[in-house]
Amino acid sequence: MKQIALALLCALPMLGLGQSSALTTQLYDTYENYKEGSIGKRRIKRADIQPLIATYRSNPKFKVSTVGRSIGGKELSLISLGTGDVNVFLWSQMHGDEPTATQAIFDILNFFDSKDFKEEKEAILSNLSIHFLPMLNPDGAELFQRRNLLGIDINRDALRLQSPESKTLKRVRDSLAADFGFNLHDQSTYYNAERTDKPATISYLAPAYNYEKDINEVRGNAMKIIVFMNSILQKYTPGQVGRYNDDFEPRAFGDNIQKWGTSTILIESGGYPNDTEKQEIRKLNYVSILSAIYTIAKQNYKEIAIGEYEKIPENDRKLFDLKITNASYNLMGNSYKIDVGIHQVEVDYADHNSFWYSSRILDQGDLSTYYGYETLDATGYTIKQATAYPKTLNTLNEVQSLDFGQLLKDGHAYVRMSTIPAKQLNSPFPVHLIGANYKIPELKLQPGINPTFFLEKDGRLEYAVINGFLVNLSQSNIEVPNGMIYK
Ligand SMILES: [Zn+2]
Repeated sequence: MKQIALALLCALPMLGLGQSSALTTQLYDTYENYKEGSIGKRRIKRADIQPLIATYRSNPKFKVSTVGRSIGGKELSLISLGTGDVNVFLWSQMHGDEPTATQAIFDILNFFDSKDFKEEKEAILSNLSIHFLPMLNPDGAELFQRRNLLGIDINRDALRLQSPESKTLKRVRDSLAADFGFNLHDQSTYYNAERTDKPATISYLAPAYNYEKDINEVRGNAMKIIVFMNSILQKYTPGQVGRYNDDFEPRAFGDNIQKWGTSTILIESGGYPNDTEKQEIRKLNYVSILSAIYTIAKQNYKEIAIGEYEKIPENDRKLFDLKITNASYNLMGNSYKIDVGIHQVEVDYADHNSFWYSSRILDQGDLSTYYGYETLDATGYTIKQATAYPKTLNTLNEVQSLDFGQLLKDGHAYVRMSTIPAKQLNSPFPVHLIGANYKIPELKLQPGINPTFFLEKDGRLEYAVINGFLVNLSQSNIEVPNGMIYK
């Protein structure tokens, strides 16, 4: 992978893309000046972007039009700028829980609204007309869910056009006769670049427009832009770019928009280590999309070899949040060697503004072909059942005052309460809360169970896994966002 990345980077100046490359570095270094500070987490709503859109409405540099409404009646806005003949159309968040590029769009708009980068902006805005349709599925965003209020996947409605959001997307695409389209999504954080432990932080696809996967000029241009964007990302996240399977999906928007004559670039924001709210990935969106826009304006993408597209590693889905390898596990008198793969699963609070974790074992056994954001080689460690703290406590305040570090060292991952407050959905502590009569089940490792156990070596507990989060018991920090409640 590294060889490919280097080859591409070295090839850039030869392709006349040296100028774009210099701009990229400046965009990366000055990003904080343009980052839209009011939308800093994933669970953003239409109400969060409404005031931003309103300011552009009264800004003469931009043209804002209401191009439709969602099923729930929320406005769909198109923000346009530039006077060029080449139309570039970017739409984001047709899946409500995929907000990363929506945030990046507002960063890009801040960039265009600023007084900086005069020369580059002049080149862009005299050659291109750029149109942004952020948050195509605002009802889904409200609920932080993929589908719209009709319960359908908008990305399978490009032909039947039942949803107003789909109709709007098609109508806007057609009215612009867009030359380039950026179809902006998020993908699971569990995707990796094939046969590597690198997360697919960004994945690309130049969708096929027929089952034969032919490459005409329209699709070829999308491939060239993707090769260019990949070369940028390799600089900041080496090896962390994937390429989506290009099987033709006749119902999808990307495939159809390609077919309708718009060079379509699908961008999927995936995972990045320790970036739960995907703000680093948002920055990479900003840098790479703006660089691509500049390259389209300068038309120097044309010299890029399409063959480089196929060299981007394919997407695979082989990541866990936590992977424990080679642990000893005792079952019915025998000891077995086992790997455990864990997903830290998010559960939304009722308002869909924030979340807690209910983790689970996803797989176990020989997981040597899988990878983890965090891994522990547990060779020589034995998996041990967690026990309850011997006293029963009455209030959350009493639980709060416990020494959790000591509790875990003693093998206690459960605290019993006489009454668990009715409204409590999870334990705010790094231990589980259990009801007065709850019986802790015997630990039986199985996919689907909540991962809670200890790892013992030479008679001492050295690690705890609580709700899928690893705790090194010889260190004072315990980074378990929450425990569970078992009544
Ligand atoms: Zn999506």
